Amino acid sequence: MKYVSTRGNAPELTFADAMLTGLARDGGLYVPAEIPQMSADDIRALQGLSYEETAFRVIQPFVGESFSDDELRGCIERAYAGFGHNARAPMVQLAPNHFLLELFHGPTLAFKDFAMQMIGQLFQVELSKRGERVTIVGATSGDTGSAAIEAFKGLDAVDVFILYPHGRVSEVQRRQMTTPPESNVHALAMDGHFDDCQARLKDMFNHFEFRDGVKLAGVNSINWARVLVQVVYYFTAAASLGAPDRKISFTVPTGNFGDIFAGYIAKQMGLPIDRLVVATNQNDILDRCLKTGAYEKGDVAPSISPSMDIQVSSNFERALYFAYGKDGAAVAQLMDELANGGFSVSQGALQALREDFDSGRVSEDETLAFIKEANATMGELLCPHSAIAAKIGEDNRDPATPMVSLATAHPAKFPDAVENASGIRPPLPNRMADLYERSERVTRVPNDLTALETLIQERIAK
Ligand SMILES: *Cc1c(COP(=O)(O)O)cnc(C)c1O
Repeated sequence: MKYVSTRGNAPELTFADAMLTGLARDGGLYVPAEIPQMSADDIRALQGLSYEETAFRVIQPFVGESFSDDELRGCIERAYAGFGHNARAPMVQLAPNHFLLELFHGPTLAFKDFAMQMIGQLFQVELSKRGERVTIVGATSGDTGSAAIEAFKGLDAVDVFILYPHGRVSEVQRRQMTTPPESNVHALAMDGHFDDCQARLKDMFNHFEFRDGVKLAGVNSINWARVLVQVVYYFTAAASLGAPDRKISFTVPTGNFGDIFAGYIAKQMGLPIDRLVVATNQNDILDRCLKTGAYEKGDVAPSISPSMDIQVSSNFERALYFAYGKDGAAVAQLMDELANGGFSVSQGALQALREDFDSGRVSEDETLAFIKEANATMGELLCPHSAIAAKIGEDNRDPATPMVSLATAHPAKFPDAVENASGIRPPLPNRMADLYERSERVTRVPNDLTALETLIQERIAK
């Protein structure tokens, strides 16, 4: 299996190299040159299997030459052993023909654990084989950083540094980053906003002497391995609702488009998905683009669903690549235009996108109202992100096709918004109820590239 860049101008890589590289050298994102197929019989055979076995069958064709079957099975077992639910991604019913896929039973209570836990294991196996170490540096507004720390803590082939904006993450998010005791974990509270953290991270990647010196690696959501691992729960959900003999639709709370793009890959592999519905909050660049064809950057308006507060949706580039018939030069051109504010999707490509994707937008007030309604009439306390999906899923459900809405975070991760909407303060699950008692370990750092680089070099030298 070879991986090619969406901009058509970078070397083809194996799965392992694409995973360790992240961004392609032409600025594009890696995608598989061919998408492996699963037949109706292959899909029928998934009914009743464990999450782990399904994961193996879905992921294996994409990674074949990089990982042996035993290595892959070992990674999958270790990745999901720490989840708080045996089904890993269980489903509950919200309404007639409307289901909620709970993706928040991982160690940091958000769906990012599915992919991050797995790539922690894949990195460790691959780096041990190569006899290499890497330094992972990430910037976070909350969820990605905690998921990365949980996934990489204690692995001896990596050091993990996470920059978060001091005083601007929730207490649960901060504690998830500052309480793991493992010595390869470094939580850095930086003066400034999330954008400043992301800008310093980008500076480090552009400072080649530093980048090569510390063997810098990234694990943000453009990493192909993260997208791939998320394909699995589309299969487990659809198989348990009767695929391949029945079509299923999904509604996905969307920010960087990584999660819903995994659904698109599942469909390309042969899973009978009818509609993939993009659910956005007031930061609705994707909803506008799918309705009008114009992809135009605006200002980010902070919301109660912060993990979807985006201005540019990085994985959308992958969807454009397929909508433009794998024309890398056309995608490169669009991305040049985006640097100057925006672009228009061609009529043909827009039509192709609309064959798979629908979209909807939910305001702040509607989100709060739906959290309250779902608690009263569906018996579910939803986090704001999940509520946005479930509201749009409810608006789009029909009697012919089951609708699955994705719940991407546990309500206890966003207790203030949930309490504000419903009057109920959601408690943390028992297995992490002592989070508030654990001792914290964090380094305050200035918004200064040289100071950050010096600190990282000193820490990894120990
Ligand atoms: C990251 C995140 C999202 C958005 O997922 P994308 O893959 O970026 O579209 C939605 N909900 C929660 C809780 C998240 O953490």
